[in-house]
Amino acid sequence: MYDVLFQNVQKLIPMKESAAKALKRLQIITVRDLIFYKPTSYNIIDHSSDFTKIKYGMLIQASVTIDDMVINSSRRLPTKIYTSNNTGTLTLVFFNKIPPFIFSRLKVGGRYIVSGKISFFDNAWQITHPDFIFKKSISTEVEPVYPLTYGLINKQLYGYIRDGINLLERAIGVCKAAISDHNNIFHSEKKYMQELLREVKALHLINIKPNHDLIQKSIAGTIENLSAKELFANQVSLSRFRKKAKLSRGHSFSVSENIQQEVLDQLSFVLTEGQRMALSEIESDQASDHQMMRLLQGDVGSGKTLVALLAMINVAKNGHQSTIMVPTDLLSIQHFQFFQKALSRTNIKVSLLTGKTTAKERRIIKEGLLSGDIDILIGTHALFQESVEFAKLGFVVIDEQHRFGVEQRSDLIAKSSHPDVLVMTATPIPRSLTLTMFGDMSVSYIKTKPKSRKPIVTSVISNSKKGQLIESLEKKLSLGEKIYWVCPLIDQSDKILKQEDSSDGVNNVKYADVTERYEELNAFYPNDVGILHGKMKQIAKDSIMQKFKDGENKILVATTVVEVGIDVPDATLIIIENAEKFGLSQLHQLRGRVGRGELQSHCMLVYEPKRISASAKKRLDVMRISNDGFYISEQDLLLRGGGEILGTKQSGEPEFFFADLGRDINILLKANKFATAADDSSFINFQTDLFSKSN
Ligand code: ADP
Ligand code: MG
Repeated sequence: MYDVLFQNVQKLIPMKESAAKALKRLQIITVRDLIFYKPTSYNIIDHSSDFTKIKYGMLIQASVTIDDMVINSSRRLPTKIYTSNNTGTLTLVFFNKIPPFIFSRLKVGGRYIVSGKISFFDNAWQITHPDFIFKKSISTEVEPVYPLTYGLINKQLYGYIRDGINLLERAIGVCKAAISDHNNIFHSEKKYMQELLREVKALHLINIKPNHDLIQKSIAGTIENLSAKELFANQVSLSRFRKKAKLSRGHSFSVSENIQQEVLDQLSFVLTEGQRMALSEIESDQASDHQMMRLLQGDVGSGKTLVALLAMINVAKNGHQSTIMVPTDLLSIQHFQFFQKALSRTNIKVSLLTGKTTAKERRIIKEGLLSGDIDILIGTHALFQESVEFAKLGFVVIDEQHRFGVEQRSDLIAKSSHPDVLVMTATPIPRSLTLTMFGDMSVSYIKTKPKSRKPIVTSVISNSKKGQLIESLEKKLSLGEKIYWVCPLIDQSDKILKQEDSSDGVNNVKYADVTERYEELNAFYPNDVGILHGKMKQIAKDSIMQKFKDGENKILVATTVVEVGIDVPDATLIIIENAEKFGLSQLHQLRGRVGRGELQSHCMLVYEPKRISASAKKRLDVMRISNDGFYISEQDLLLRGGGEILGTKQSGEPEFFFADLGRDINILLKANKFATAADDSSFINFQTDLFSKSN
C-alpha cells in the first residue's frame, strides 16, 4: 500500500510538464517528497467577507459584486475594479493587464470570490493583484506558505500537496478492503500509514481555529514528531551498516615501523607530538579487527597527509590496498607528488587517477588495481563514479571531507567489504553531523604544528591602499619569496554563486577579478605573474601550479581554487581581495596556503569600505587576532547563528526533511541510543525506507 509514496508525482497527479519540472527543482520527485514538503509559514485568511472588520495587511477571501470597471489602456495607469457587498466596498487594482482568462469572465453585476492582501489607498480598502477564485474547493482559512521556484505559485503547489494527501488516503482506504484479518504485516503497515497521514495532514491542512500561536504550537509538535522519526530512521540504517561491518570483517593490520622510518628519513621529517598521537590511535584501530571509522581533525598545515600516508604504509605491508579521495585535481596531483617522493625508496606503488587521466592510462591503472599491483590510489571523486575495482581494498581516506557529498562518500566505502575509513578535516565537525553521517566515529586531533612554523601575521587594509600594496611586493620578490593574490571573480562576467554576506545590501560595487588583477600586476612585474582559475584547462592549471612551485612565477593570481590543501612552503604572503565577501572558515583555509615553511608569513585582507557590513568587520577582526582554526570555527558558528551548522549548507551533507541538526541534537542522541538497540521489526523497516532521502 505504501508503494504509492514512491511513485512519481507526475504519474499520479495531472500536471503540465512545466509544473513537473518546477517540482523537480524543489527536489520533489515522488509523492513522498511532495507530502513531506515543509511549509515555511502559514497565512491566516479571513473568510468572513465582513469589510467592517478588515485591517491593513490582513489576508482575506471575500464574496463581492462588481459595481464598475475602469479599464485603462495606458500603461501608466492601473485598471480598477470597484466592488462591494452588504458590509462595504473594496477596490481591486491591476497594474499590468489582467490575464485574459480571468478578464473574460468578469462582468459588472456579477458575484465573485476574491482573495489577497488588504491595503488602503485613496480613502478606500483595496487589494492589488487579487486572486479570483472560481473553484470553491481550494479555499482554506489557513494556507501554508511553501518555498517556491519560478513556474510555480503557492496555490498550485498547495493543490498538488492536497492531491498527494488524497492519494495516500485513498491507498489506505483501498487497502482496508483488501486485507484479510490474518495478515499482520498489512495491519501494522496500515497503522503506520494512518499515523503518517495524520501527521502530514497536521502539517498542511490546518483546521484549528485560526490563531497564530495555536497554529505554531501544533505545527512545532508535528514537526518534532516527524523529525524524531526521521533521525531514528537515519540512525537505524547507519547502525545496521556498522553491525554488518563488524560481523563480516576479519583482517587487522600490523605496524610497519621500519618502512615508516625510512619514509620520514627520506623526507627529513620528525613527527610532531600531535602527529604521533594521532598515528598511534589510528594504528590501534588498524590492529583490531573492527572496522575503523575515525575522524582526524587538525588545523590547516598540521600535517594530516603524512599521518594518512604512514597508516597506508601499514596497510600495504599487510598486503592490502588504500585509496585517498581528495576534492580537487590540484590537490590530487600535489598528494601524488608528495607520496611519490616519500615512497621513492620503498617498493610501495602509488598511482593517480582523476577525471583528466587518459583512457589508455586509465586502463593500465584499472588493471593494476585489480591485480593488486597498485598499493595506493590517489584520486578525485570523478573516478569513483565509474567502475574502479580493487583487488583488496582495506583502507579509505577521505581528505577535506566537507567538500564531499554523502553519496560520493558512501559509494567509495561500498567499493569493498567494509574497509577502514579515515576522514580528515581542517574544519571541526560537530558531533551531530558525524552522528548523522557515519553513525558514530572516534575522533583524533592534531593540535600541534611542525616546530619551525611561525604564526602568520595578518593585517586588514582598505581597498584604497591597493596601489601601495602592489608596489610593496617588490621587496618580497627580491628576497625570492612567493605570493598568492586571491580575487573572488574570474572576470566581470563571472557571477558570484554563493555570496557569504548578501545581507550587506550593496550590490553595485564590483568585486575584484583575477583577469584584471593579472594584467595590472603583470605590467608591474613582467614575467613574474601566473594566473589560475577554475575555468582553465587542466593542463594549463597543472603547468601554472608547477611554475609557481618551481619559482618560475613568483606571484600567483588566483580564485579560491587554491583554497584547499595547496602546499607551496616558500610562499610567504597571501593577499585576499574583497575579504569581506568570504566566510571565516574560507578565509582561514585561504590563509593556510602560507606559513607552511620556516619563514615568517603574512596575510593581507583587503576590504571594500563601501561594501563591508558589521558582521564582515567582525570576521576580519577574528582573522587578525587569531591563527587558531578551532577558535575561528567557533567564532564562525557564533557569527553565523545557530541554524547554520558548520559546513552543512555548502557541503551537501544529509539534508533532512524535518530534522534540524542545530535544534534537534537531543532527539538525535536519543535516536542514536535506541537505534543501536533496535531489532528488525516492520515498523523500523517502514521508517527507514520512508525517510531515507536517497530513495
Ligand atoms: P594539512 O594538515 O593542512 O593537510 P599538510 O599535510 O599539507 O597539512 O602538511 C603541511 C606541510 O607540512 C606540508 O608541506 C608537509 O610536507 C609538512 N609537514 C608535515 N609533517 C611535517 C613534519 N613532521 N615536519 C615538518 N614538516 C611537515
Ligand atoms: Mg590537507
